[in-house]
Amino acid sequence: MEVLWAPWRMTYIARAREARGCIFCAATAGDPRERLLLGTTADSVVMLNRFPYQNGHLMVAPRRHTADLPGLPAAEHADLAETLRRALASLDAAVHPEGFNVGMNLGACAGAGVADHLHWHIVPRWSGDTNFMPALADVRVIPQHLLESYDRLRAAFGWLTLGA
Ligand SMILES: [Zn+2]
Repeated sequence: MEVLWAPWRMTYIARAREARGCIFCAATAGDPRERLLLGTTADSVVMLNRFPYQNGHLMVAPRRHTADLPGLPAAEHADLAETLRRALASLDAAVHPEGFNVGMNLGACAGAGVADHLHWHIVPRWSGDTNFMPALADVRVIPQHLLESYDRLRAAFGWLTLGA
């Protein structure tokens, strides 16, 4: 799971967090496309990662602001697990990856960029896929790239609600 932890990303993420507060809690306020929110269920949110490891890198989080996975109420965890399952299916249908990395970093020392709001990462993979670092080196490229991904994926995630 080395792909899910890269210290050099933390500078970008720390800056973003200072500017926005908790991205998962803020995801349902304002323009969903601007916030890269693919949608919500009753208890979960699905977003594109603004600092992707790979095209189509998603995050699935509970709507409750908590870092405590074992303490998550069972019904909310069931919703989270079902949302993760369906998100994998939709991402598979949308971008046809050859594999996925799915993982969760609990705690800043484990590499969590947003340590106080737990979230699953889903990273689609292709054999021989290139490291995304060259793309990230030119940060000006990212917003357009992300919005194109958002528009493409949003169509595959129609089962999610957009809005509060
Ligand atoms: Zn939060």
